[in-house]
Amino acid sequence: LYGYAGHTLRIDLSTGSIEKQPLKQEWVDEFIGGRGFTAKILYDEIPAGTDPLGPDNRFVIAMGPLSGLFLPAAGKTHFAAKSPATGGYGDSNMGGHFGVTMKYAGYDVTILTGRAKEPSYLFIDNDTVEIRPAGHLWGKGSTEVEEILKNDLGQEFQILTIGEAGERMVNFACISHDFGRQAGRTGIGAVLGSKNIKAIAVRGTQDIPVFDPKGLLKKGKATYAACREKPGFKGWTPEGTAGITNWCNDVGALPTRNFATSHCDYADKINGKAILDELKITDKGCFSCPIPCGKYGLSKTALGNKYVEGPEYETLALVGSNCELSDIHAVAHVNWLCDELGLDTCSGGAVVSFALECYEKGLISKQEMGMDVTWGDLDSIVHILKKIAKREGIGDILANGVKKAAEKIGGDSDKFAIHVKGLEWTGYESRNAPGMMLGYMTADVGAHHNRCWVLGSDVANAVGGSQDANVHDLISQGANFETIPKADHKNVVPLVLKSQHLRPAFDILGTCRLQYMEIGLETHYYEELYYCATGKKLDFNKDLLHLSEKIWHLNRMFNKREIPDFGRKYDYPPPRFYEEPIPSGPNKGHKVEFAVIEEMLDAYYAARGWDKNGIPTRETLEKFNLAVE
Ligand code: SF4
Repeated sequence: LYGYAGHTLRIDLSTGSIEKQPLKQEWVDEFIGGRGFTAKILYDEIPAGTDPLGPDNRFVIAMGPLSGLFLPAAGKTHFAAKSPATGGYGDSNMGGHFGVTMKYAGYDVTILTGRAKEPSYLFIDNDTVEIRPAGHLWGKGSTEVEEILKNDLGQEFQILTIGEAGERMVNFACISHDFGRQAGRTGIGAVLGSKNIKAIAVRGTQDIPVFDPKGLLKKGKATYAACREKPGFKGWTPEGTAGITNWCNDVGALPTRNFATSHCDYADKINGKAILDELKITDKGCFSCPIPCGKYGLSKTALGNKYVEGPEYETLALVGSNCELSDIHAVAHVNWLCDELGLDTCSGGAVVSFALECYEKGLISKQEMGMDVTWGDLDSIVHILKKIAKREGIGDILANGVKKAAEKIGGDSDKFAIHVKGLEWTGYESRNAPGMMLGYMTADVGAHHNRCWVLGSDVANAVGGSQDANVHDLISQGANFETIPKADHKNVVPLVLKSQHLRPAFDILGTCRLQYMEIGLETHYYEELYYCATGKKLDFNKDLLHLSEKIWHLNRMFNKREIPDFGRKYDYPPPRFYEEPIPSGPNKGHKVEFAVIEEMLDAYYAARGWDKNGIPTRETLEKFNLAVE
């Protein structure tokens, strides 16, 4: 089996059973790797109606066929489980060096079931796999645990950890690795915590068999060279994702004050340049990446000096402008705190901003909050996050995410609980971006930009009259973004489908998407590398995107099976977006009409081959060879 380590590691934490099994040929043939494996395994192996935080849930780690090989950015690890945030399909991925080391240890897939009897960590050293006690690590921060285990076991071990939030099963707890990398979304860290697993330590020293080693080496070198020659190569690395902050603010898409508006007047203080000027010590990249977008720096605030990786754009948006925190050191401090506590900064920022608005409107009292809190105040934000991670008082309610918190808090808080399916919205305010909004609404995991990003086309449509208009050219030609006309929603569906199939396709192969998305590495490189690795032909646009589409149907069926009354109503955006016009900034006055939401959903379901309630039809499932109910 070329391109794969060839094994699945199955651990039943309740019984202590550890099995090394051959990787299933059926998974490889039909689902290739990564996100394909996790979709198949979750549907087939999780018993219907399983409690996401119960022992029957599966925690799955999956690699792709390109992971760990000599080619650009082939180091993504895919994690999946039934999500405690949404009750449906959940996944999240991270870079760093963990997954490739799992593959070098011999495992393409790892499946955890059950629950360890005591706080534990997994020790994996090639064929030696042990469940070890971790009472001495429980209650400690993520990077603290990583350092302890590296010192105990050896620096060559790669470590995954959860923080206190994962231990207490906060619905947006993340998994941390490599002193600052996270798999943040869908509460994947809470599932690991529910299994009493504080960390996984792995060392791997084995080869991955490939079909054409010389060809792969030659093609890998050529792909690195191609990356270096791309016009965007030099421009991407300095600021990484943070480089988009001012653009988002200029086009009225920067979430501000719990998505009340989409523009702030302090974007210059929390952008990529501010990171370079104020924080940065060095660039930091994942395994084999030629365009390292991570920034490692030092945050200095009254709460102390902290070394931190980030903040990335999503953190700048959700912790920065969305909580009205306008100091880059303060944003970086919150980033550090979330990393230590093991909280996703996207959902973490969104939940704090929701809590601040509840407090401002009198829906949470000072006594419940434990102190007087306010927008833009570092102490307030730190206070709320600590309460959440410890599940203290109001923190216990907020720890379940904005959807469930609004159900408890009541009043009109459901109108400004910004989520889809229970997953908090990420960093792109979309009231005048219909394609982007539809992408968020229909994503299998809830409101996550990993699945679809068509904001540039929405803006081009609004300011240039066509989805293909080049926004950068329009800016250089002096386009005035002081007021942006209403974007047309009529033709967004094909664009959304294309992005929804393309963006997560890289999660199947096990590579980072940013080499393709940000610097324009052509798809033929992936086809050629896949052939050298596996000996199989892969047409990126035909075969890979077809599989990506198949996964959309499969995950939709998982959600239908697992979420009672699942259907169309789970695809609606929060009321704020169709009831409240944006009060300020270039998109002032815009909102998305509810009739437009319905129209877009009708067109989207029809194009997907789903019925009016958003459920795949029998014909669609047969067309994709999916024998699921
Ligand atoms: Fe990691 Fe960034 Fe490189 Fe992607 S572009 S592999 S996220 S460092």
